[in-house]
Amino acid sequence: MRLILLGPPGSGKGTQAQRLVQRNGIVQLSTGEMLRAAVAAQTPVGLKAKDIMANGGLVPDDIVIGIISDRLDQPDAAKGFILDGFPRTVPQAEALDELLKKKHIKLDAVIELRVNESALLQRVENRVAEMRARGEEVRIDDTPEVLTKRLASYRALTEPLIHYYSERRKLLTVDGMMTIEAVTREINRILAAIGAVEAKAANNKAAKKAGSAKRAATGAKAAKASKAAKKAGKPAPKRVKKSSSKAAAGSKARAAVKPRKAAKKVTKKRAKR
Ligand code: AMP
Repeated sequence: MRLILLGPPGSGKGTQAQRLVQRNGIVQLSTGEMLRAAVAAQTPVGLKAKDIMANGGLVPDDIVIGIISDRLDQPDAAKGFILDGFPRTVPQAEALDELLKKKHIKLDAVIELRVNESALLQRVENRVAEMRARGEEVRIDDTPEVLTKRLASYRALTEPLIHYYSERRKLLTVDGMMTIEAVTREINRILAAIGAVEAKAANNKAAKKAGSAKRAATGAKAAKASKAAKKAGKPAPKRVKKSSSKAAAGSKARAAVKPRKAAKKVTKKRAKR
């Protein structure tokens, strides 16, 4: 499973990424975490990134793209990954497309956690209080002033990615204002619906069962009609071939999580009919 989690600071990306990691045995690739580790270890990258991060700015593209490229080559990323905090700009998304193409990796989906901005400051304040209570070191960029800057940067530079991935039919939007549990459930549901997680196998089994039951019922109906026609001395009615219920179930699942644009198309088609 290869995913991108998109959402402003405080939207719950980190929490949901950890849950996806545990459930699916994949790795979380957080550029923020990697950069914080580099700052702590005082590596050349860390030294370059330190002040930029403390001020809520963006670390130069070549640095973050380099970090991600190296990380994707490590064996633990082969089973799947969640990108958290990357890409953050359209040029980074374009660079990622190139990287994935070169490495023959296909992205399954981009999950956007949509939240009300007014709730974000409170959420980050809660995060800080919880970290303090656990005796953990608090991020130096988790202050109201820097958060305001990070939010402005999200709006101006990262939000255009919603359109970018929506156009590429990769975007799945989840209401990030629900409880953590409900958001997790919804993410798992949509990933199953697009066939990115194993639940699909279970769903398919159910669809197959329903399909064969339906086929059996249709067959019995046709046989009955043919018998009746024979009795009346008429030719047996022709059976109309329909698309399999398995395919119908699959397209139904995809339609349920279709990007807004595609969903509109479906509605239009229906209106025409
Ligand atoms: P995060 O943990 O995702 O909130 O990131 C913390 C900080 O790391 C950001 O405010 C940026 O300074 C830097 N950073 C993380 N990811 C990126 C990225 N993709 N591009 C540029 N800077 C980044």
